[in-house]
Order: sequence, then C-alpha cells, then structure tokens
Amino acid sequence: MLELRDIVKRFPVKGPGRRVVHAVEGVSFSIPPGETLGLVGESGCGKSTVARTAMRIYEPTSGSILLDGEDITGMRERELKTRRKKIQMIFQDPYASLNARMKVRDIIAEPLVAHGAFGSQAETTEAVASILERVGLGRQHMNRYPHEFSGGQRQRIGIARALILGPKVMICDEPISALDVSIQAQVVNLLKSIQRENGISYLFIAHDLAMVRYVSHTVGVMYLGRIVERCRSEEIYGRPLHPYTKGLLASAPSPRPPEPGAERAPSIEGDIPSPIAPPPGCAFHTRCRYAEAACREAIPVLRQVESGHEVACHLF
Ligand code: SF4
Repeated sequence: MLELRDIVKRFPVKGPGRRVVHAVEGVSFSIPPGETLGLVGESGCGKSTVARTAMRIYEPTSGSILLDGEDITGMRERELKTRRKKIQMIFQDPYASLNARMKVRDIIAEPLVAHGAFGSQAETTEAVASILERVGLGRQHMNRYPHEFSGGQRQRIGIARALILGPKVMICDEPISALDVSIQAQVVNLLKSIQRENGISYLFIAHDLAMVRYVSHTVGVMYLGRIVERCRSEEIYGRPLHPYTKGLLASAPSPRPPEPGAERAPSIEGDIPSPIAPPPGCAFHTRCRYAEAACREAIPVLRQVESGHEVACHLF
C-alpha cells in the first residue's frame, strides 16, 4: 500500500561550506494493506523525516515513493492533491496540531472542504458526527473548542480529522508520546480497532519499544538515517541480532527483575553522532563494543540473514 524505495533526504546547512544534514540515507520498505510497520530509534535517527517524506511534506533528495501502486514522487501538487486523500497523518502533539480558534466540527470538516468532498451543511455535520462517534467522542462535542478537551480527547479529534477522507494509509508520528501513560493504551487500541475494521496500513513512529511491539506487524530499527534491522515484531523482541537493537532493548526499563544469573545485553553508551558528519563505515561503530577494522571502512548493507529477518552488520 505504501512503498519507499531507497529514499535519501539531505538538508543543506546554512553558513559557509556545503555542509548537509544526512537525515535519511537509503531507506526502503513496503507496508501491505492492513499492516503496521513500526519505526523505532533514538531522537535524531531520521524516523520523523521518513514519515514526512512519505507524505511529501519534504521532497526526497532521491528515491521514490509509491502509494497504492502509483509513483507519487515527482507528482505536481495539483495531481498529488487527489492522492492525498489516501494518505493522512496523525501528529505527535495533540495540543499544537489543532487550531485553537476553530470548533471541533470545523476542524474535522476542514479536509472535506480542502478536497471539495463536502456536501450540504447537514451532510457534513452528519459525517463529522459519525466519525466523532467512531473515535469515542460524540455529537455533543462538535461545537466545542480544542482547549475544552483533555490530551487523549484531542488526539481522538486528530484521528477523526485524519479518518474523515477514508485514507488507506495513516502516518502516525509519535501519536502517543505526549499523552499520559493511562491514555496511551486507549489511543493505541482505538487505532488497532480502526485498522481491523477498515484495513488501513499504518506507519507507526515511536521510541517506546513496548508500544511499537504491541501495534506493529513488522518493526524497523533506525540508526543515523538508515534501517539497521527489520523483521516481524515478535522476532525483533525475541531474537534481536543487530548490536544497536540489543542495546536499545537493554536500555528499555523492564517491569520484571532479571532472572538470577541471566545474561543481559549491555545498554548503549554515549550519544548519537551528528548527522552533519556521520562516522565513516558503519555509523554505529563509535558506540559498538563489537566494532572491528572493517566496520570503520565499509557501510554494512541491510540484507536477509534469516527468513524474513534483515540486518545491516558485518558480523552477519
Ligand atoms: Fe558493530 Fe561493526 Fe556491526 Fe556496525 S558493523 S554494528 S560496528 S559490529
């Protein structure tokens, strides 16, 4: 349903020299209908840039984007507008993503107006009421303003706005990280039930590994602009292979104390290097305890090392 082929996105840096931020370097994936790809990684690894490039909010430096089998990479805005109905986005901050001066009815109806898909006032109101009920709110909320709602309710409004055009793909850019923990599960369960009903594909960006595991069919781990490991969700948690993935999992707090004598992978030390000057070879070599000479020279290619399990590491 959504396919990215070898996407590169670089941003020029202002000032002397021709420096660029290497935000995304050759990311490829495809998401089948009704499935979720979770992208995880530390802040600054490029996962949000991938999401925005897939939406064509950012133009890719190179590579191509296919939506529902159609290449939308070079499409002009006029042609792209009709395709945008198929791909919608839920933003991270439910406080900043809703216009504080608009009533909920108008916020949700806005995409219909933008795409010329609205009918009479009464039909639009009915469409908004129906989608509000689908996300667990009600008709009585239509004439209120965003500040009258809690964070979780605002995110439901954001989901309703994304759903009103009947998209086939939803890009969820950290949709729960600004919410209280008690509300996160409600929003995620809502997204899952919408997927079961409508067969929507999700690209789900998050840094909470437990939540990504819960929502995703496939997980991609990103480091400094590249996917370094990708496989089915249960595999990545049951049998991680890349040293970075192992370190990420070891860094996540566990509700259970480790078994006596159980070996636990060491967590990752140090900071992620600057994407303006990424390290040569494997970008993770500055933090990897297994790094050897070849790691400083050659960039490891993401390749299948077991059935359905891809890793970019010279150890494999
Ligand atoms: Fe570590 Fe080398 Fe593998 Fe990179 S390629 S993760 S530095 S072992």
